[in-house]
Amino acid sequence: MMNYKIAVVPGDGIGPEVTTQALRVLDRIGEKYNHHFEYTKVLAGGAAIDATGGCLPRETVEVCKASDAVMLGAVGGWKWDTLPGDERPERALLGLRKELGLFANLRPAILFDELSQACPLKPEITAGGLDIVVVRELTGGIYFGEKGVKDTDLGPAAYDVEQYAEEEVRRIAIVAFDMAMKRNKKVTSVDKANVLESSRLWRRVVAEVAKDYPDVELNNLYVDNAAMQMILNPKQFDVIVTSNIFGDILSDEASQITGSIGMLPSASLAKGNFGMYEPVHGSAPDIAGQDKANPMATILSAAMMLRYTFGLSDEANDIEAAVKKVLADGYRTPDLMANGGKQMGTQEAGDRILAAI
Ligand code: NAD
Repeated sequence: MMNYKIAVVPGDGIGPEVTTQALRVLDRIGEKYNHHFEYTKVLAGGAAIDATGGCLPRETVEVCKASDAVMLGAVGGWKWDTLPGDERPERALLGLRKELGLFANLRPAILFDELSQACPLKPEITAGGLDIVVVRELTGGIYFGEKGVKDTDLGPAAYDVEQYAEEEVRRIAIVAFDMAMKRNKKVTSVDKANVLESSRLWRRVVAEVAKDYPDVELNNLYVDNAAMQMILNPKQFDVIVTSNIFGDILSDEASQITGSIGMLPSASLAKGNFGMYEPVHGSAPDIAGQDKANPMATILSAAMMLRYTFGLSDEANDIEAAVKKVLADGYRTPDLMANGGKQMGTQEAGDRILAAI
């Protein structure tokens, strides 16, 4: 029996509720396929501030580094909103990304047929469903470049530098092409190479990496056009690879196509197969502790963990099929009830997904 070591960071608000359901689902998969998932729970965010005074205890970083993967709920909440920026719970996320070398952020935007009424696009545009992954560079570019303020002829000014090293582009491109090989063999690289020097380097390095993947079709799009195409014809996309800032914006745009934030999983990957898996949503303090949170984003994040860190595709498919089955049977958590259905709570959603596996 294989043993997989997972560091679990439940965090704050609905974080503990949704991670509890994801771990139940992993245990069910373990029973069915004869794997053992070993969990070590650690603190981060507001829970860590209350217990230790800091949002990211050293022990948490060490346990994460010693594990094969990390599962995170969400951090933050009203209780800590008055703390200064660098002491807030959300700083734990930046700390974890940096400490764990998580340079690639994967955000799938999947439109389940069962939830198609929640999509703001016309039905003829999305007929047959959508399945896009945005691969966003996470530790470079303008968010991490040189920044400052200075005096100019026009008065006080501020600047942020967009800079990419070839190696940073190469490693994120490899993630995108590897992913495309497991999907529909199509990569769209998004840049602004008509204006930006850093984008011209980006485009050149992506083209070099593409030579190692002759089966994958590569397209380049300028970011302004990509933003339009996402709405006009999203079905043309399979894997989108792009820089930190463009990915930040495009992944949010793509996610809106799918309806509810409670359905969106994500993965952040480091070199090798190590990754941190978490729902896109936050700690939702408005519904915490009320059995109202949709655990599907976290459960689908667990499926991504099985697929990308542990190489267990059948098991991942099994979880995704179970989520679809529960939706197809008409069951909805409150966030999905806009168009009716049979309402269920967080725990019942977990029960139903377990039963469907
Ligand atoms: P949020 O994602 O927590 O909530 C936005 C809205 O979506 C709320 O109405 C909430 O009830 C709803 N919602 C979110 N997840 C849901 C789910 N699984 N099921 C049903 N409904 C859900 O965003 P926010 O309100 O802007 O932020 C709340 C706190 O979370 C803040 O402290 C913020 O800093 C933090 N945050 C953390 C992360 C993270 O940990 N990765 C991400 C975003 C925000």
